Amino acid sequence: MDLDAIVIGAGPAGLSTASALARRGGSVAVIDPAARAGGAIHTVREDGWSVELGPNTLQLEGKADADLLGELGLAQEIQEADVRGAKRLIASQGQIHALTANPRSILHSNLLSWRGKLNLLLEVFQSRESIHGETVQSFAERRFGTEVAERIFDPMINGIHAGDPGRLVLEHAFPSLARLERDHRSILLGLWRSPSEPRKIVQFAGGLQRLTEAMVGQLPKGTLHLQSTTTLIHRDSRGWNVAWRNARGEESGAQAKSLIITAPPWQWSHLVGAEILKPVLHAAELVEAPPVALVVRGYEREQVQHPLDAFGMLIPHREGRKILGVLFPSSSFPNNTPEGSVQLACFIGGARNIALGRMEDSQLREVVDTELRDLLGVKGAPKKEWIARWSRAIPQYTHHHGRFLGALESTEALHPGLHFVGSFRGGISLMSTLRRGSELGSRLPRG
Ligand SMILES: Cc1cc2nc3c(=O)[nH]c(=O)nc-3n(C[C@H](O)[C@H](O)[C@H](O)COP(=O)(O)OP(=O)(O)OC[C@H]3O[C@@H](n4cnc5c(N)ncnc54)[C@H](O)[C@@H]3O)c2cc1C
Repeated sequence: MDLDAIVIGAGPAGLSTASALARRGGSVAVIDPAARAGGAIHTVREDGWSVELGPNTLQLEGKADADLLGELGLAQEIQEADVRGAKRLIASQGQIHALTANPRSILHSNLLSWRGKLNLLLEVFQSRESIHGETVQSFAERRFGTEVAERIFDPMINGIHAGDPGRLVLEHAFPSLARLERDHRSILLGLWRSPSEPRKIVQFAGGLQRLTEAMVGQLPKGTLHLQSTTTLIHRDSRGWNVAWRNARGEESGAQAKSLIITAPPWQWSHLVGAEILKPVLHAAELVEAPPVALVVRGYEREQVQHPLDAFGMLIPHREGRKILGVLFPSSSFPNNTPEGSVQLACFIGGARNIALGRMEDSQLREVVDTELRDLLGVKGAPKKEWIARWSRAIPQYTHHHGRFLGALESTEALHPGLHFVGSFRGGISLMSTLRRGSELGSRLPRG
């Protein structure tokens, strides 16, 4: 079988690459050992509840992102987060503080002391420095002071990366901040001079699973090979030869011009026959992705004292709490929860709490009971509960990352037609992953 491309992995990266190629009439095979497509996307629909057990939302950064969803036929299904979702709560020093997308809300809140606010404003006078490999924490302290680092950057990193700001490298994890300093000297001045398009936080009626369904729906029949593992990856003068075996033990194979690896780096050593990956395997094995457990609960509205008038609550590490944060999906997207009920999604674990991320269900329940009672005044037993575990959740762009990226680039240069795409490279968010996959799929050679 002669194809345009073979894609290893049917997560958002693999499916967006394959569906973009298929939209151009290209031929493709997608291979994944999992029983369902979509990678980390996992929506459970049950008795009027639509619950996300993986990513919760998509962040659209401009028209191109909306256009991409349009190409997937999802334009009519986009739901924008309810305005209440615009607020983010930060639990700090026994109090809950509300911030909005407007940076001025920081000054109006009591999250920072007057000294902390002054240090934040003095950032406009800071000189430019370019520190190779600087961590997010050191950057935040250097430019904005310790309070901003501890009370704003730190919980944000908990929420986005489940990471450790003292280990994530700024130029990889937040390249836009590094660019602002380089181009404008001051981050605040840069934001003021070149305001970015407001970001939209969106979902779909029917949950993020609609993304998977839409991308799979654009693949010709017989293209997606689930419960299948590669048994050969080899390149000769005619292109890439890949063989795979399905759950029934049946072997298939194809030859293609392009090979796209989207499986996570820690799985590459299991891609049988992939000798070409040898030069990147060492760097790939150093990619950290700590465990995260997700406990989603449904309560009667009256069981929760807090008004839940926000997107969710983030918690700085120094607070010593056992959850990273809690989302309020029923506030942002009320249609996902039956009338009269609320949905709370607690994240546990991450780079600084690895043991917590691996706890038994009974321990997770105890932690969530205590934290929800303390933080939101939740009373009584939940009427619904879902628990998901991600043993390797989100790739961390730490000081190894530069070397890893270098290894990917040199391997691609050595093997024409080979591409690596996924959240392990160029951004961890779902939307940026979809964007990169789709961009690759729309330029792969055909015919
Ligand atoms: C708990 C959690 C919450 C998140 N929340 C958000 C959020 O709210 N917003 C947001 O923007 N992003 C969020 N993310 C990140 C988002 O899920 C990722 O950006 C996205 O899933 C990356 O897609 P991917 O295809 O690179 O990887 P994945 O989704 O991990 O997919 C990788 C695929 O490769 C397959 N695979 C594994 N081994 C092999 C193999 N040997 N051969 C072939 N295939 C293989 C897997 O089965 C899987 O299908 C979250 C992630 C997690 C884990």
